[in-house]
Amino acid sequence: MKILTVKKIVIALTLAYLPFTAGAWGVLGHRIVGEIADHYLTPKARMSVKQILGNESMAMTSNWADFIKSDTSYNYLSNWHYVNLAEGLAINELHQLLDRPDVNIYTKLNEMIGALKSGKSSPEQKKLALRLIIHLMGDLHQPMHTARKDDLGGNRIQVTWFGQKSNLHRVWDEQLIDFQQLSYTEYVRAIDHPTAQQLITWQKTELKEVVWESYQICNRIYATGIKNDDKLSYKYNFDWIGTVNEQLLKGGVRLAKVLNDIYK
Ligand SMILES: [Zn+2]
Repeated sequence: MKILTVKKIVIALTLAYLPFTAGAWGVLGHRIVGEIADHYLTPKARMSVKQILGNESMAMTSNWADFIKSDTSYNYLSNWHYVNLAEGLAINELHQLLDRPDVNIYTKLNEMIGALKSGKSSPEQKKLALRLIIHLMGDLHQPMHTARKDDLGGNRIQVTWFGQKSNLHRVWDEQLIDFQQLSYTEYVRAIDHPTAQQLITWQKTELKEVVWESYQICNRIYATGIKNDDKLSYKYNFDWIGTVNEQLLKGGVRLAKVLNDIYK
């Protein structure tokens, strides 16, 4: 009886220790992308988005696609958040891969953009499509979502983050962002300063090029030789936070462009 209780406690503690989710920018990252996008919507797009979401902001609806992972009726969405890409792909190989009708973040984003545009979609279908577009445009800018299959996008690379057990995917999803100790509105205020030229360039980028860009960053992350038991802390933050912030900003600006194009 006593042993059983101890076992139960050990199991409970282990479960409590497991990361909340391994599959997306954390709560903060997605909210930052949603809030930035809101700043770049055309009046028409803003009105259309409000018609669908009501008083829920893009920032606050951005994590819905992760929160519903606990509901098994949404299991079909679980592999929509990323695309597995092997090492060493050339750009034309990547393009060919994305043209295949596989289930991945790129094909599903396009499908949801089509669903939001379509006059045939019901209000429920449009709401689902909009929530997924807001979420997946964020995930697409997290470079460990365009990473290797064999390590599950870095989930299997066990590292420590300031002495705490973690993994590379999680460091990129949330820990680098959380480390800045800002709320999502403070974060947006800090990074939402693109130049006019950046705005033009980023908004012109096709979705395939966005995948390529994230893939290039992911290749740089692997090229540092990151491996099991690496101890990440101040230096890792110093080396990568600029990239994280630029990806969050690009994600927001480009999400706005996708929505502005839908509601032209
Ligand atoms: Zn996600």
